[in-house]
Amino acid sequence: MEMLDDRIYLTPLDNEADKVYECYFCDSAIYEGEDCYRVDNLIYFEDCINKHFKIIAEKPDMEGYLADLEYHDTK
Ligand SMILES: [Zn+2]
Repeated sequence: MEMLDDRIYLTPLDNEADKVYECYFCDSAIYEGEDCYRVDNLIYFEDCINKHFKIIAEKPDMEGYLADLEYHDTK
């Protein structure tokens, strides 16, 4: 099976509709026109960006937050 076909390289450069991104989170291909989000030049599916930011986000430290408020109030 011959995989290298010269015709592949003759695809017009302005064929933006076939442009493919790769989801930074799950490595799946994202085609132009699909719902996706760009953050710092990284592309995510909508579902993946939610998962990714839930993973990297810290849960709010409510006790520390309230202590900070008290600290600033009494300053
Ligand atoms: Zn993904």
